[in-house]
Amino acid sequence: MKIKLLGNATLTFLLVMIALLLYFQFLTRPEINENVPLPQDLHPVVQEKRDLLIEQAAGKGIKIIITDGFRGFEEQDRLYEKGRSTEGQIVTHARGGESYHNFGLAIDFALLDRQGKALWDMSYDGNGNAKSDWIEVVAIAKDLGFEWGGDWSHFKDYPHLEMRFGLTINDLKRGKRPPGDSLTASQK
Ligand SMILES: [Zn+2]
Repeated sequence: MKIKLLGNATLTFLLVMIALLLYFQFLTRPEINENVPLPQDLHPVVQEKRDLLIEQAAGKGIKIIITDGFRGFEEQDRLYEKGRSTEGQIVTHARGGESYHNFGLAIDFALLDRQGKALWDMSYDGNGNAKSDWIEVVAIAKDLGFEWGGDWSHFKDYPHLEMRFGLTINDLKRGKRPPGDSLTASQK
């Protein structure tokens, strides 16, 4: 009887510890590692893939415009306030330091119509092949190694494409960088 009680107590203790640990992990978001310089521009590989995306989309008769790329922390914070403390619709769920844009690893695109006007219309079929131009661009982007914000379950960000290099936002905040990134930092 004594042994069984002890066993239960130990088990309960362990379970509580595990629950606390998970809760703590969930709550703690790492601070930005100030010892590692922050990127000031799009990563060279992302720049290269961005150009290929524009080129390969054009090859299918689809013109696109890159509406956003690297974004500093302050700019990201301003964007976060849009639809919250400032006017407009909510466009992001990421504060400064929580978006791949802040580490030079994300771009946003839009379609261009015949008049050269930007379009955010996912049903637009400008090249007349009975397929959504938007989805055609996304398919090219995925082939190039981008992840698409339209695949997210929590907040769909259809113009958004990012390249993670296997790194999470927390990795990036802790100071990890994709290969070749020091090059970007030293250029500035
Ligand atoms: Zn984006």
